Amino acid sequence: MTGSSKPKAPENVDDVAIVGAGIIGLAAALALRDAGQRVVVLDRQQAMHEASWAAAGMLAANDPHNPAEMHALAVYSERLYPAFLARVKELTGREIPIRSRQTLEGLPNGENGPGRRVTAEEIAELAPGLNVGELVFSVMEEKSLDPCDLTEILPGAIRAAGIELREYTQVLRVEADEGLHRLTAAQRADEKTEEAQFWGRHVVFATGAWRAPVEQAPAVEPRKGQLVMLNLRGPEQTACTLRIPGLYIVPRGDGNYVVGATLESTGFDQSTSEPMIAELVRRAVALWPPLAGASRGPAWAGLRPMSEDGLPVIGSLTPGEAQPTLWVATGHFRNGILLAPGTAHVLRDLILGRVPEVVVDGFSLSRFSAAAV
Ligand SMILES: Cc1cc2nc3c(=O)[nH]c(=O)nc-3n(C[C@H](O)[C@H](O)[C@H](O)COP(=O)(O)OP(=O)(O)OC[C@H]3O[C@@H](n4cnc5c(N)ncnc54)[C@H](O)[C@@H]3O)c2cc1C
Repeated sequence: MTGSSKPKAPENVDDVAIVGAGIIGLAAALALRDAGQRVVVLDRQQAMHEASWAAAGMLAANDPHNPAEMHALAVYSERLYPAFLARVKELTGREIPIRSRQTLEGLPNGENGPGRRVTAEEIAELAPGLNVGELVFSVMEEKSLDPCDLTEILPGAIRAAGIELREYTQVLRVEADEGLHRLTAAQRADEKTEEAQFWGRHVVFATGAWRAPVEQAPAVEPRKGQLVMLNLRGPEQTACTLRIPGLYIVPRGDGNYVVGATLESTGFDQSTSEPMIAELVRRAVALWPPLAGASRGPAWAGLRPMSEDGLPVIGSLTPGEAQPTLWVATGHFRNGILLAPGTAHVLRDLILGRVPEVVVDGFSLSRFSAAAV
């Protein structure tokens, strides 16, 4: 630290201070702002540059491998997506395109999926050359988007909505101060780091795989995922996401396909490993042989936030308190892009004292203490 900036005058108190500018923090900010709240979002680096940028972007509400407890929130969030994207467009004039609209999912014989079983003729039409092997394929209406589009456009929408977005501002601690919360942050600018303070009536921690800097924060762990982009020229293309257990191929258009993903417990390391990427490519080619002719694009990795039971943690950090003001939204693990608009609406409703439109008791922090008892 090189100094201390003057504390913001307490009359400039924000209604809600959100820590973390990934998709969860930003979607919540927008929902709260649209409900008339004054909102500030703080991130220790550039907005949307962690898991929310790295993701494959499938809105896989009906993936049979999702935990059943998540289904209602997933369907609710998927339903809110068109309005979320329309609002971003209204604020910025820029569209976040839907990159694929159907998924072909292959499951071992005997495992049931939610999609409609497809014939060999349909497969030849939807994904020419697909190697079905021992799997049974179904098709479902499932969309995907490119998180890089979100990274480019969403922060502008946030600012256009009148939300203050402070990047390079790492929240170090949060303390009670005259009925408010005082957030102390290390703010980086012009190669200097200074201490800055913010006040909020409510604080939301949306810090992804990083544990929130307060005692009550739930345990969360990073689960690394590596991905690679392949580019395929020529007539054999597919507009469908192809998914089998442990592997997906997501089309981005123009012959580009994202292949993923590994699932690793390697702490906060975000490096890619050539043997693991080569193995992903090998498995992708085995599933869809036309990819043998594809050229390799960049590989990257991101950290999925995983809670103790693999389900999101959404709600009060002080369960049981009559009028809570400290909130958390983390643990979205493999589905945070899908779950963002739904989580945002739930948080907005809880903070404003309304009843959320979807039952979220199962995501409460209190489930961990109940399990301990
Ligand atoms: C390889 C991979 C593929 C995926 N594919 C999909 C998919 O297809 N579909 C899907 O729905 N989901 C997918 N996900 C999951 C999804 O990316 C995450 O669940 C989601 O992005 C989590 O969003 P978040 O906002 O909670 O976290 P993040 O995007 O990680 O954001 C957290 C933010 O908090 C900030 N922060 C942390 N601590 C502090 C602090 N003390 N002060 C200030 N700022 C702080 C960080 O800098 C970061 O910007 C994938 C993830 C990975 C890694």
